[in-house]
Amino acid sequence: MSSPEKMPVVFVGHGSPMNVIEDNRWSRGFATLSDGLPRPRAILAVSAHWFVPGTFLTANARPRTIHDFGGFPQELYEIEYRAPGQVDLAARVRGMLGEERAGLREDWGLDHGTWSVLRWMYPEADVPVVQLSLDRRLEPRAHLALARSLAPLREDGVLILGSGNITHNLGDAFSRMRSGDHATPAWASGFDRDVAAAVEAHDGDALAALPSTEAGRRAHPSIDHYLPLLYAAAAADSSDAVRFTSGAFDLGSLSMRNVIWS
Ligand code: ZN
Repeated sequence: MSSPEKMPVVFVGHGSPMNVIEDNRWSRGFATLSDGLPRPRAILAVSAHWFVPGTFLTANARPRTIHDFGGFPQELYEIEYRAPGQVDLAARVRGMLGEERAGLREDWGLDHGTWSVLRWMYPEADVPVVQLSLDRRLEPRAHLALARSLAPLREDGVLILGSGNITHNLGDAFSRMRSGDHATPAWASGFDRDVAAAVEAHDGDALAALPSTEAGRRAHPSIDHYLPLLYAAAAADSSDAVRFTSGAFDLGSLSMRNVIWS
């Protein structure tokens, strides 16, 4: 059998869980993210919503759909995304990360950072999915180093999908929603622009340093939604072309920018 085409890497700004059920500019953007991508054999998803003390991989043959949000319409809680898992891939990734560092878990599944997007990208739920957690104890540079070890998966038809947001200050976004002020503040547009420039330059050092700048702390009171970008960027390399889609803001300050490296 010939080896599959090297898979692109994708980072998606997932935004509100409402994008699962609404036909809007963001969900239409998710639906076109898989256009032109080779069909993956499996997906390794790194979601902002599995931010825990440790590096873990879902090792369920049938991962459950986790509805990890509150206060949304009942319709959202009834959605099941029944993609299979792939225990072999989870074990392989654990080996790549270091067996002493990474563990297999069967008590997680697919959280909404993953399925809210995959439901649009692969609505048939017929591509196996493994999720990788974000170790909340690690500095950005340590995440980058871990993520670099995952790059060979691309040669085996695995789509590495980071799911977060390039800016994510929900306190700011909700206060704008209440006041009806949907203007994008300068700290958000500036941080988003600086991150995009570092992505285009394949500058991992800059990507690791940006969240500790003043704008970075404002854009990410908690770093969980930024870290999936580091995993995606580190699995790419300077031979990849960078393409941005949906480069706009929801709720004023929430960057919905997606990135495709191919
Ligand atoms: Zn989120």
